[in-house]
Amino acid sequence: MQESMKRQKIECWQCKRIFSLLLDTAGEPTLIRECPYCHASLKLDFGGEQQNFITIMRGVPRTQPQENTVYQLPEILKSSNPSLPQ
Ligand SMILES: [Zn+2]
Repeated sequence: MQESMKRQKIECWQCKRIFSLLLDTAGEPTLIRECPYCHASLKLDFGGEQQNFITIMRGVPRTQPQENTVYQLPEILKSSNPSLPQ
């Protein structure tokens, strides 16, 4: 599994339930997903707060530190209705 993969809590804009999704925080910052409870389309937007961090593989000899760029996400990421204009 990639370092940037993160299990993120998402709040559904429609039913307000909270569930978790595995997101790639180094990938595309705007995603469309579906709520597992009410099946609403969810727009997730976590762009804007990019942060670089250094990953050092522990227990692996002679490994160069890796620099990754990920998005800093809140504890619970709110979703929005993708059919509404911004
Ligand atoms: Zn929902």
